[in-house]
Amino acid sequence: AFAALPRPAERFFKKSQGDPLGALLSSATPEEVASAALTAEGPLAGLPIGVKDNLCTRDLPTTAASRLLEGYRSPFDATVVERLRTAGALIVTKTNLDEFAMGSTGQHSAFKPTLHPLSPAHSPGGSSSGSAAAVAAGWLPAALGSDTGGSLRQPASTCGVVGFKPTYGRVSRHGLIAFASSLDHVGWLTRCVADAALLFDVLAGPDPRDPSALTDRPERASTHPIPSIPALRLGLLPALMEDTPIHPAIARAFDALIERLRSASATLLDLFPEHLELAGPTYTAISSAEAASNLARYEGLRFGRRAALSPNAPSTLETFAAHTRSALLGEEVQRRLVLGHSLLSGQTTLANAQNARAHIQKTLDEALTHVDALLTPTTPDTAPALQNADDPEHLRDRFTLPANLAGLPAISLPLGCDEAGLSFGLQLIGRRGDDARLLAIARALE
Ligand code: GLN
Repeated sequence: AFAALPRPAERFFKKSQGDPLGALLSSATPEEVASAALTAEGPLAGLPIGVKDNLCTRDLPTTAASRLLEGYRSPFDATVVERLRTAGALIVTKTNLDEFAMGSTGQHSAFKPTLHPLSPAHSPGGSSSGSAAAVAAGWLPAALGSDTGGSLRQPASTCGVVGFKPTYGRVSRHGLIAFASSLDHVGWLTRCVADAALLFDVLAGPDPRDPSALTDRPERASTHPIPSIPALRLGLLPALMEDTPIHPAIARAFDALIERLRSASATLLDLFPEHLELAGPTYTAISSAEAASNLARYEGLRFGRRAALSPNAPSTLETFAAHTRSALLGEEVQRRLVLGHSLLSGQTTLANAQNARAHIQKTLDEALTHVDALLTPTTPDTAPALQNADDPEHLRDRFTLPANLAGLPAISLPLGCDEAGLSFGLQLIGRRGDDARLLAIARALE
């Protein structure tokens, strides 16, 4: 069957054999891919692409890395999957993630942990852990993922690849298994920014099946002129960075980049948008409350699996649902649902969080009237060791959360690596709706 496959697809099957990174949850067979390749036409014809397993696919199971959805098959393709197929791409595999995309390490998958491609004792980051590991390992040229608080940019940074999240509404969420709908974004991981721009042109645009999708046509990204360095106006966030302990190698590389940009005549401004220090607790409150509401649909009746009730348990819908969720959802997911339900039944905390979110959105939009993009390291640290990878307070997401709360486009590109060879990235946050320009600026800095 290998002989009938396009080269990149053949490379995928050969390199990923045995899945030593725990990056893949299910894959098409070489025969299936060879037969799809026969009719593939379009800008991505014959390219193998991985899809995070919280995006629905007709031909492969969709589990969100949860026991509760083990074996579940969607009757439809997510809009982004459908657009990839129309562009000729081959969907070869569904990638591992933290269960329901809740996490930042790839260790909360119900099926297996994902390992860092360069150092199996480290986490690749998450929650798009399998997509990042597979692209970084050279198995795939690109993989789709989702980003609710940093889940594309953070593992991109940790694995040394590019991770892009568009403006909220720019890319359809139809067929994405919802975690926190107002913060969820579909995006992708690639090896270079030019590839991220190519995918943008294939995937972005209105979708009547997603009520939050923007209705105007996006500007093309792949043909957008790349600005010269002296034409760049970039903003720095000194207060946010001073507030955060940053790995010395990351701080050094970031400062060196700023110096290089300054001496090449780019304009760099220190900006102080207010309330960014509230991003962590604001994200925790809003994402948990929305998760509690979104995951209420998994009661064991309509989707996926159900847990067997003991014969003398009262057979009410409540006991049935509670039993299914307790038995089949992981601890991290349950922790967030308990928090989310308690927030939904109170009043003040959520209202305060919504208020803080509106302020963050306003001050970031205002900051971006002075510059074309904001610059930060993507993560304060390099890959955490597997045994202490947990991050309940979202400290590893400190720099990525604000763009989700504000719905702004953001990208992580490789910036350097520490003494141990572990990568870290540079984050650029762009103006609302200006995805094409953000990608062009990222190409100028790559
Ligand atoms: N790490 C964050 C969390 O645990 C963000 C996850 C995401 O972006 N899906 O919620």
